[in-house]
Parts: sequence; structure tokens; C-alpha cells
Amino acid sequence: MHDDVDASGPPEGIVPLGDDIFAIDTMLAGYPGIVSSYLIRSERPCIVEVGTAGSARVLHEAVTGLGLAPEDLATIVVTHIHLDHAGGTGDMASLFPNAEIVVHERGARHLADPSRLMRSAAMVWGDRLDTLFGMMRPTEAARIRAVGETGEIDLGGGRRLVTHYAPGHAKHHMGLVDTLTGDLYVGDALGMYKPLTGDVVPATPPPDFDMEACLATLRLFGDIGAQRLMFSHFGAVGTVEETIDQAEAELRLWVETVREAHGSTGDLDHAIAMVRDKVVARYRPLPPEASSGTGEILDTLSGPEANVSGIVHWLDRLAQEKAEREAREERLS
Ligand SMILES: [Zn+2]
Repeated sequence: MHDDVDASGPPEGIVPLGDDIFAIDTMLAGYPGIVSSYLIRSERPCIVEVGTAGSARVLHEAVTGLGLAPEDLATIVVTHIHLDHAGGTGDMASLFPNAEIVVHERGARHLADPSRLMRSAAMVWGDRLDTLFGMMRPTEAARIRAVGETGEIDLGGGRRLVTHYAPGHAKHHMGLVDTLTGDLYVGDALGMYKPLTGDVVPATPPPDFDMEACLATLRLFGDIGAQRLMFSHFGAVGTVEETIDQAEAELRLWVETVREAHGSTGDLDHAIAMVRDKVVARYRPLPPEASSGTGEILDTLSGPEANVSGIVHWLDRLAQEKAEREAREERLS
């Protein structure tokens, strides 16, 4: 793409994917290849995923560069409200004054009032919060449309995006299917796809990660029979069944490894070390043409520390539920 000298070609960071779909690199923290947004330039144009607060300007430039006026954008939809996907929603709402903001109902109130979300993000990220994500600004509640188990976004001309509630990575996560193309926007439900190596790395962060919900979402996505998987991290993938199978196998391996390590000592650092040795060591290193910094940030967002603590958090929750159940049964007997 970058070697393309054709002056009529798309601007840097924009990849045309056919049927008026464009992948737009949102340049998280200034780095390429981390978070992809998608513009569907249909009759009622729609953006899927907004990236961080700093990405709003990037998207504004891309959308106008692709021939739309800011007023033309009809919809902005986020797969979930994690800051790398939705941190720029408030800024986007200001830059695109007519766009309706669509989000799962479990995330809607946090877009209108991000204060709680920002407080907990500050606890997780500390002084890295500002460089990685910036500040999420509130979105006017009247412009937010919350969807439930399923929902629809009108793309015009009979084309629609159908939303499917898809928890596991987060409680406020959904997938989106384009009725014209059969593309499935997967958010983080399958983890991160690394286009330079072909690896799929699970994304299992605290506090919401739930293995059973994740597996159910993977089954749902498999049943959809999509044409392509549109990853937020990063890009479009045509090998749908193989990639969903790969995501499931990786998820099981991460969880089994943590279960084993955590069960033996209960020590988080031990579990992280074991995952590094047994699981992460199998992945191919990023090739030299990858931007330096990109790999490090991908690792920060969804590397061993975040993923292992999410899995441990889930295992602890399971153990607690089991103990409570047994105590209840004890009382009844
Ligand atoms: Zn996420």
C-alpha cells in the first residue's frame, strides 16, 4: 500500500475494501496498525469504531478526503466502549453534527457520562492513560441510540448493519453484520488479529472477561456465516471459519495455561511467566517493517499482563460462585 505511487490512490492509512467500505487507521497514540475504523460510504454513511479522542481528527480528515461532508455522516457505531474503540465518541459527535451514535445498551450511559469509565481507566493505566487514550468527552444523550440483543442501522438503499449482542470480552460488546456484503465487524470478540504474522491473540481483560460467554459469541459468529471478519485490531480477514477456529483454540490455550499456573501457586506473576513461556513464545515476532512501538502498544492493550489478570479475575469469580452455591446447598440439606 505504501509503495503505491498512483496519485489517484487512497490517502495513506486508508484501505479500500470494495462495496464502498474503507478501513481507516486511527493512529492510536500516533502509531499505525493498532486500531482500525471502517467507513461504509453508502447512501446513509456510517463509521464503525471511532478509536481514541486523538483519532477524531484523523477520521474527520479521512472522511472528508473520501468525498463526504461532515454533515453527511448518518451513523457512528462502536462495538463496545473500551477507550481504544470508543474514547473519541464525544469528539466525533461534535465533528459530525448529524450522526446518530449507536452503542449497546450496557454501554450507553458511559458515553453520555464518561466520568466513571475514565476514573476506572485511570486506575488501570495510571500516567499512561493520557498518552494512550486521552480524555473521553461526553456525548449528548439525545444523540445516543442504545440497542439490545439485536438492532439495526439503516445504511440506505436497503442496506443495513445488523447488531448482535456478543459478550465475553466485555459486557457491552456487540458484533455487526453488513447485509449487502456479509462482512462481520467483530470488535475484540475474537481477540487481536496480527496481519503481519497471521496470529490471533485473545483479548481477555478484567473485569468483564467471561470464557463461556466468549465461546458462545464465537459460536454465534460462526453461525452467521460471514464473508469476511473486520477486526478492530487489525484489518479485514477472508478466512472466516479458520480464523474463528484459531481464535477459539488460542482462547482455550491461554485459559488452560492460566488455570494450571494459577491453581498451583495462586501467584499472578507466575501465571504471566508461564503464559509467556508456553503460549506467547509460539507467536511469530513482528517483521522489521512493523512500526517500532506498535508491537509494544498491542502488547500493552492485550498482552500477558492484561489478559492473565482478566482470566484470573474470571477464575476467582467462578470459584466464589461455586463456594456460595455449596454454602447454600449446605444450608438446605
Ligand atoms: Zn476491548
